Amino acid sequence: MKVENKGLKVWLSNDQHIRLLVQAGFFILIIWIGYQFYGFVKYFETDGQSAWFRRPPGVEGFLPISSLMGIKYFFLTHDFNLIHPAGMILFGVFFLFAILMKKGFCGWICPIGFLSEYIGKLGHRLFKKKFILPVWLDYPLRSLKYLILLFFVWAIITMSAEDLRAFIYGSYNRMADVKMLMFFVHLSLFSMTVILVLMGLSVFIKNFWCRYLCPYGAFLGFFSLFSPLKVTRNPETCTDCRKCTTACPSNIKVHGKLRVHSDECMACAACVTACPEEDTLKLRLSKRSGRSISIRTYAIILVAVFFIVTGIAMLTGYWVSSVQPVEYQHWIHQLDSPELDHVR
Ligand code: SF4
Ligand code: SF4
Repeated sequence: MKVENKGLKVWLSNDQHIRLLVQAGFFILIIWIGYQFYGFVKYFETDGQSAWFRRPPGVEGFLPISSLMGIKYFFLTHDFNLIHPAGMILFGVFFLFAILMKKGFCGWICPIGFLSEYIGKLGHRLFKKKFILPVWLDYPLRSLKYLILLFFVWAIITMSAEDLRAFIYGSYNRMADVKMLMFFVHLSLFSMTVILVLMGLSVFIKNFWCRYLCPYGAFLGFFSLFSPLKVTRNPETCTDCRKCTTACPSNIKVHGKLRVHSDECMACAACVTACPEEDTLKLRLSKRSGRSISIRTYAIILVAVFFIVTGIAMLTGYWVSSVQPVEYQHWIHQLDSPELDHVR
């Protein structure tokens, strides 16, 4: 027993294992949310023949466009709509993380990032090689996610308060969570092929989807540039061993930087863990002399802020949607109806 405890202690002494625990915890939470929501929808699909499940508000975390519209609408009208309030709260928390703590959402919480990272690790094990695209291809591909982001942001920027209200309170948005679920439950051959291709590419190129195509990551990455917290290197104690650069899943040349200013940095701290020199590579609030925070403290702050903010939202009534079960009952058998078409 003692030997087992010692093994666990050694395992937990690696900061990247702490990150794995946080990622796995959020992943399980998201699977649970997906299961609950599936049960909720099934109940109405079967006209009450299957077991009743409460709708988990956390499912709205998968509706970032609707959340962004809700936030803009709030700033224009001061109306905090309760159609998908949890989505707005989650979007706000992840935005806050980006501004204050870099892309913590991508490196510690996102289920897609988690899967993508471990698919990449599997690829690395299989091929014992890190595939990196040449710069002339990497740069234009990396701009793709910004173009996709621009498309959505531009569409939202040009919407007036009236347009936003029509979308937010419209039937399409009210049932957007169900439509999203149905997209995955009844995956078309095309969508399945795209997902498989992206997964296949992630085997060879680390975080393919996140690096090149994810608009959410692009949004957080852009704002993470303003974060005071950055991986910071002390050139006086650095031995130029380059272990940090080898460990970085975002292919950042950490060994050559004093502060990592990249929008690709996910605050995973793999580089910090890999650095063999004491006090050389740290997450610091400002330049070399600035206050540093350990990876464990970072993890505690991230998890605590997440649960405190979502907890406050639950207690103050800004978490549960105002869309009533009777509406789901009404719409679930007519999801293809033109009334549920996207408002343009
Ligand atoms: S620079 Fe460090 S913290 Fe940033 S993505 Fe690379 S390994 Fe992770
Ligand atoms: S791992 Fe540490 S010592 Fe080695 S190059 Fe990077 S910062 Fe310098």
